[in-house]
Amino acid sequence: MGMSEKKNPNPSKFETLEVSNFLRQIIDADLAAGKHAKRIDQAGQALPSVITRFPPEPNGYLHIGHAKSICLNFGLARDYANAPNGARCHMRFDDTNPSKEETEYVDSIIDAVRWLGFDWVQNGVEHQHYASDYFDQLYAFAEALIEAGKAYIDSQTADEIHKNRGNFGQLGTNSPFRNRSPAENIELFRDMKAGKYPDGAHVLRLKIDMSHPNIVLRDPVIYRIRHAHHHRTGDKWCIYPLYDFTHCISDALENITHSICTLEFENNRPLYDWVLEALKECGVFKDPLPKQYEFARLNLTYAITSKRKLLQLVEEKRVDGWDDPRMPTIVGIRRRGFTPESIRLFCERIGVSKADSWIDMSVLEQALRDDLEAKAERAFAVLKPLKLIIDNFDDQAEEPCSAPKHPHHEDWGRREFTLSKELWIEADDFMVEPIKGFFRLYPPKDGQPGSRVRLRHGFVIECTGYDTDANGQVIAVHAQYFADSKSGTPESNNYKVKGNLHWVNARSAIKAEVRIYDRLFTDPHPDSGDKNFLDAMNPNSKEVLTAYLEPSIADVQAEQRIQFERHGYFVADRIDHTSSNPVFNFCVGLKDNWK
Ligand code: ATP
Ligand code: MG
Repeated sequence: MGMSEKKNPNPSKFETLEVSNFLRQIIDADLAAGKHAKRIDQAGQALPSVITRFPPEPNGYLHIGHAKSICLNFGLARDYANAPNGARCHMRFDDTNPSKEETEYVDSIIDAVRWLGFDWVQNGVEHQHYASDYFDQLYAFAEALIEAGKAYIDSQTADEIHKNRGNFGQLGTNSPFRNRSPAENIELFRDMKAGKYPDGAHVLRLKIDMSHPNIVLRDPVIYRIRHAHHHRTGDKWCIYPLYDFTHCISDALENITHSICTLEFENNRPLYDWVLEALKECGVFKDPLPKQYEFARLNLTYAITSKRKLLQLVEEKRVDGWDDPRMPTIVGIRRRGFTPESIRLFCERIGVSKADSWIDMSVLEQALRDDLEAKAERAFAVLKPLKLIIDNFDDQAEEPCSAPKHPHHEDWGRREFTLSKELWIEADDFMVEPIKGFFRLYPPKDGQPGSRVRLRHGFVIECTGYDTDANGQVIAVHAQYFADSKSGTPESNNYKVKGNLHWVNARSAIKAEVRIYDRLFTDPHPDSGDKNFLDAMNPNSKEVLTAYLEPSIADVQAEQRIQFERHGYFVADRIDHTSSNPVFNFCVGLKDNWK
């Protein structure tokens, strides 16, 4: 029987804990008040009482911070499925910025969210949207605001606009173009759309208040000219709407109830409300309007989550691509061996709050350990091999041995392998001069016999000596075995040893590439303050070994996770692993060794 990764036998432990948080309290209160109960869509269909959305900009690969937002938004939709008319979460690509977005990113985002275990289908309808699908409506709404005297074309330069906005201590100054008539504004706006002006010649701004204490409300720019190709709308547009205008309108068009974002958007909330209220007055939207709520972003130690810096690592080839197992991207941690369950568990454990904080990398690692402990089959792997020769063992003999696939699941069956005269053991399981407390293999000295250890699931051996090469390097260890000490036999109890070593048979071992990964940074906060994150890169974050594995490994499939006994959890690389060329990545150790 082949090795396979088992379903977690105790799934309830990994299901939603449904821990309350401030967002659930808001939703509960809205449900109790029936706030979104009676809404219908344009086709007259009843709308769910809870609609959230996940709105990535397709300008990079998703990272572990996005996973928090994904688990939150899609998780709420899942957990409120029993609300009146159900609940759903929309997948929305915030693709208003023409030059940056790429289809490659869209595809990778869809893959990542699906892999995490979520979808955006409700009653057979897929809710995948693109902000660019709303360009026609956004444009029409902008004209409505111009007609209503709530928006104007500004022809100042970008520098002037910036300077005249003021700052915290200094009020802004009105643009000399602020009092253009709606008719003049409409004409200019249409000419902008028709391509009559170069980039930067004009912008469309909301007419709010240039001396507002919240700088975000000082006549924000909502449209600018960009003669650029868009990945979906091609060359149809040369004016593009900005985030603050697009996002709230996209939410309203999609009947979003709770628009959840990170705390940096707190100052933008009044603008979100202003735009929707203004369009309500214009007769475009009606109550209840979507509401924005902010939560604290995930900050993870020993990681960076800035898309720009992650891109830099990839472009400067400081890592082996977006899916390098050391990267905090979803594709990276997937390749590292993280399971969707472990990431969801992590997100449940860290919770959702309104206060910024740092989460230690060990919390993420522990979630994986907790998930894999019950799921992963065991195997022997010798990562840094040293030859062990059992001199009194028959040259031709192959002693059958076996071990459970999982120590707590006898029902999963056993792994079979053999022991012979020549084995591979871990190089650091032998010391010529044992340090105090070293209970593994060491040779006889000063009339004292060599140490005795048990070869797990095999025999007890006693070290008799070792061979060295011309440089004094140990190249083989010699031992003799005790024929009546076989594991599982009654006589084996007569042998009490302190060391218990894993090993593989040199005749039948499978050679494999094993990639040992460590944290990418040595500093818990590699990019805080004015640090340069490149200075904190761990020079030893990747080590490639040629290891020897027990024969049962031949059945392992790509992306299957196993525990190499005494070493930790490993995953068969999802890209490079084949049965003829096995490649394993280190996922996480058995214990947290970082403390
Ligand atoms: P950008 O600087 O390109 O806007 P971003 O990380 O904000 O980068 P988006 O694609 O806009 O990327 O993010 C999509 C969603 O994920 C947003 O709602 C954002 O708030 C959320 N998000 C991004 N980073 C984190 C994080 N570290 N923790 C929690 N949520 C995050
Ligand atoms: Mg963003």
